[in-house]
Amino acid sequence: MEPVAPPIRPVPHWPALLTTTPGGLGLIADGDLPPGQPVARYEGPVVGPFDRVPEVEVRYAILIAPDTWLVPLSSARYVNHACDPNCTVDDLLTVVTARPVPAGAELTIAYNHATFDEPLPPWDPRWSFDCACGSPGCQGRVDDWRRDPT
Ligand SMILES: [Zn+2]
Repeated sequence: MEPVAPPIRPVPHWPALLTTTPGGLGLIADGDLPPGQPVARYEGPVVGPFDRVPEVEVRYAILIAPDTWLVPLSSARYVNHACDPNCTVDDLLTVVTARPVPAGAELTIAYNHATFDEPLPPWDPRWSFDCACGSPGCQGRVDDWRRDPT
C-alpha cells in the first residue's frame, strides 16, 4: 500500500479535499465533521438509456431514476467505495456524512447500495471490482446490488 499524499486541491464550498488515496483520487474530510454534513454533490449531464452513457464514463455514472444516469463531473465523482461507508447519497444527489467523520478520514459511499425502491437494472460487469476497504464486513468482490448497507 502506497502512502497517502497530502491534499492537492481544495474542493470549493464543501468540507472535503481532493487527494490521492491508496485507491486513486478520493475525498477526505476537511475537519471533524458531524453526521448529516453535506460533503459533495453529484452534478453533471443526465444520460439515458444506459447504452448512451459514454464507455469511459460507465464506471462513474450513477443511477438517478429508471434507466436515467448522471455522469458526475463535480467533486463527488471522486468519492470512493467502502463496504461500511461513512456517507450516504440523499435524494438531492448530495453526499452526506452518516456518522461523525474525523478530519483527514476518507469520505466513502457504497457504490452498490440501492438508494431507491425502483426496479434495478442488471448489474453491468464493468462496474465490478475487488474491494480492499478493510472493513470487517468487506464484500471482497463487488459484483451485484445490495439493498441495504452492510
Ligand atoms: Zn470492502
